[in-house]
Amino acid sequence: MTRRAGTESERTAASGKTGAEDRAGEFAGSVAIVTGGSRGIGLAVARALARDGARIAVVARNAERAGAALESLPGEGHASYSCDVADPVACKRAVKSIESGQGPVSVLVNNAGITRDNILLRLRDNDWNDVIATNLGGGFNMTRAVVRPMMKRRAGSIVNVTSVIGLMGNPGQANYAASKAGLHGLTKSVARELASRNIRCNAVAPGFIRTDMTAGLKESVVDDLKRRIPLARLGDPADVACVVRFLAGSEARYITGQIIAVDGGMTM
Ligand code: NAP
Repeated sequence: MTRRAGTESERTAASGKTGAEDRAGEFAGSVAIVTGGSRGIGLAVARALARDGARIAVVARNAERAGAALESLPGEGHASYSCDVADPVACKRAVKSIESGQGPVSVLVNNAGITRDNILLRLRDNDWNDVIATNLGGGFNMTRAVVRPMMKRRAGSIVNVTSVIGLMGNPGQANYAASKAGLHGLTKSVARELASRNIRCNAVAPGFIRTDMTAGLKESVVDDLKRRIPLARLGDPADVACVVRFLAGSEARYITGQIIAVDGGMTM
């Protein structure tokens, strides 16, 4: 049986080297999909991977904002795709376009997510269905769409951006907590199922991070949160991005099926 030559990141992983010189540009020649890469945590992840040489496929619903995000990415070969990750057919179509336009996909970051908060008795069917379909269904749709070529190439890394709410639960977020807890189960199952094909799957569970998603929190709520966070501040998107980048790369080659909280110590 003949096997394709691996990408730069696969070769680095195989060599067993760990020095900083190996990390610089370790994603050169690789394609990384970042869903929800047009702003917030996803944009910071896209920047971190692009800085190390990856060609980024930014996937989001709003085509204009996804296109604008490309301007702020270092390097070249990036592209944006308008796609609703809740739609399995659109995900398949987007992955096909990415593979034919940019090349085989080495890294998938399932980051797109939404909230529709309300207390349980007021949670409408749509609030439940939209959050589950986007946060959990989106992760499944994109993962299923990318893994076949990864399996053939016997290389790939998938990182799911979940939430500490999926570990702890939260009043007013039953739909969001269920979607993120579901992603934790998906992460571990994919990790177990595809480890023999050298595909790793991990999750990063952020705490409270300053993005559009948390911009509406009242000052009093933010003050209360800071009291509950040992490091006494909300996180920045870059605090999450560096952990996603680590899990996606060769330094994490012996890590799969893990959930890493990036939350200032809130859930320890
Ligand atoms: P954000 O600023 O609201 O950005 C969300 C991103 O997801 C946007 O690019 C958005 O673009 C995209 N998106 C939303 N629905 C989509 C869909 N159906 N299909 C494709 N793209 C979609 O959110 P964020 O704070 O950066 O959060 C990113 C991830 O981290 C989410 O999964 C979130 O649950 C998780 N997280 C965030 C925090 C936090 O405190 N911020 C904490 C824990 C976990 P379009 O609107 O154009 O589609």
